[in-house]
This record gives sequence, C-alpha cells and structure tokens, in this order.
Amino acid sequence: MGKMTEGYWPYEIPAAYGGPVTGFREPIQPRSRHKWGYAEVTDDTRFTLLVAASIIEKGRVDRRDIARRILERPIKGWPGWEEFKAANNLDHIGYRTGNGAPMRIAPVGILNPPYDLRRLVDDVEAACIMTHYVSSAISAACAIAAAVSAAIEGWSKKELLELAMEAAREGRKRGRPDGAPPIEEVVRVGLHKLEGAETGIGWDLRGLNPGFEAWEGASFALCLVWGCDGAEEAILEAVNQGGDADSIASMAGGILAALNPGSLPAKWIAEVKRANGFDLAPVAKALAGLRSKRAMHRVVPIPADPIRALRGCARGEKLLERLLKARQEDRKHEQDEKEHLG
Ligand SMILES: [Mg+2]
Repeated sequence: MGKMTEGYWPYEIPAAYGGPVTGFREPIQPRSRHKWGYAEVTDDTRFTLLVAASIIEKGRVDRRDIARRILERPIKGWPGWEEFKAANNLDHIGYRTGNGAPMRIAPVGILNPPYDLRRLVDDVEAACIMTHYVSSAISAACAIAAAVSAAIEGWSKKELLELAMEAAREGRKRGRPDGAPPIEEVVRVGLHKLEGAETGIGWDLRGLNPGFEAWEGASFALCLVWGCDGAEEAILEAVNQGGDADSIASMAGGILAALNPGSLPAKWIAEVKRANGFDLAPVAKALAGLRSKRAMHRVVPIPADPIRALRGCARGEKLLERLLKARQEDRKHEQDEKEHLG
C-alpha cells in the first residue's frame, strides 16, 4: 500500500487520491521508472522474501547465499541492484545507508528468539553486510529485528522498545561508522512528542522524518509501533505520511502484526495474495519452525538468588519454570525500583 504514496509529501496525498488513503488503490507514481499494480508488493517484501527463502533453505543466515540470490535477478524498485550486479561478487561489502537494511530484516527477527541478542546482531550483520555495512544501517536493522523477535514472544511494547534500543546500540558497533544520529535518541524524541498527542491519520510528528535513510525510517516505524493500536492503524499512518512510506509501513506493520496478528486486516492479506500470487503463510511457518529449534537451546535467565527460587523443589518439579518465574519477579522489582527512582 505504501507504493501509492512513496516519495510524496503529505500534502500531495489528498490531492492525488481525493482524500487520505484508507485502502488499496492503483498507485499513481509518475516519478517511478516502473508501472505498479493494485496491491503489488514493492522491494521491501521482495527483499524480505529473498532473505526468508535463503534462511529456510540453509537453516541459518548465510551471507554468500543471500548475495547469490540478490544477483539472480533485479529486485523491482530496489535502487541498489545495478550497483550490486556490477560488483558481481558473493563476498561484496556495500556501504548503502538507506532503509534497505531494516526493511528486509524481519526473517532474522523471526529466526532468533530475543534471549540471545548477540546472535541476533551477528545474523543481522550477515544479512546486511553485502549492501549496508554502515553502522547506522546495521543499528537500524538490529532494532527492527529485535522488535520483531520480542513481538512474537508477546512482550509489552515497553519491553519490546527497550530490547530494540539495546540492539540498536549493539548494532552501531558494527559496520563503518557514519556519524548518523543514534536511533535511540531519535526514538526518545519521537516518543516525547507522542505523549498526549492526538493520534489518527496525519499525526503531527514534526521533527521526525519518514525518510529514506535507515536511521530515519526505523525510528519513525518504532514510534508508530508505540503510538498505534495495531498493524492496520500503523500502516495507514505510514502511508499517509509519504516519504519512504512502503518501507516504514512494512517495518511498523510487521512488528505490530507479530504482536497482534488479528490487527492486520484479512481483506488486505487476501488482496496482496491475489495480486502477487504468493502465499506468505508457509514461509512464516518454516521460519517459526527454525525459531523453535533455536529456542530449545536458549539461555535460561538466572534470577539473582537461584537457590531461594528452587528451595523446596524436588527433582522434576518444573525447575525451569521456577527459575523463570523468579527472574520475572526480579525484573518487576528492578522495574518498580527504576520507576520509583525516576
Ligand atoms: Mg521504499
């Protein structure tokens, strides 16, 4: 749906479509080199599916296999393909700074449970190094992957954003430094603006730009995740803000749909399926299968006092559950203390 308004200024949208966008229409894109059809997906979804197919076939993130798949055929609408093709090298390292990194990273977030952030960040780097080995782009992609991962677990939005910010900080240590604003700071400013603001189509988010740079797009998407009730609202909001509408809608919509699958209208899913001839359900299922394999080897968070947590337990008496419960209580206690101090 974002293709309808990608590259638009917000004021151009009602002029082109006769009012705010509330559903699929044939995209009016006179500035695009391509013709776009009703409900046709853009490079975000094409790239995401490419990464997903590679992970499903290899059972892990394999940077050379992803590079090989990118070289196979042009990704319609992705501006980096020709440059990538010219390099023609499976070990190529690219230095793009745009939303191409965070927009395709959801499969890495589905693959990795949120308990092992280091592994998630390693996988994000491997999935992006061939095109976006720049610290701001890796940081943005880490934030989005972590948010998807936490959303699947049903974490609260606060916990989800905290993990995304931690991942953003870790991700910034990778890739070539580029001096872009840290996305944690941009998100902090965005959330501050949202406090008490009227939400609904056309929010006033002055100071936050729905831009094409990864630090802009990912932080805008995370603010939408915080402020919107579900995927439908976030997608319509992103679409009506213009800019890199398709990429931001796919990031925010992906996270909120993972958190609450019912918030993505079934009608839209059916329309996308019909227009593009693919079924995303088996892809999601295969990725979820790989995730549960990883989750079986997950690191168990140990509470501050494990002996106390297990006191009185006999062998086989749900020891793992006891440890997790005690850890959750610790976290709640830490949180209460933090709020009390703050
Ligand atoms: Mg885009």
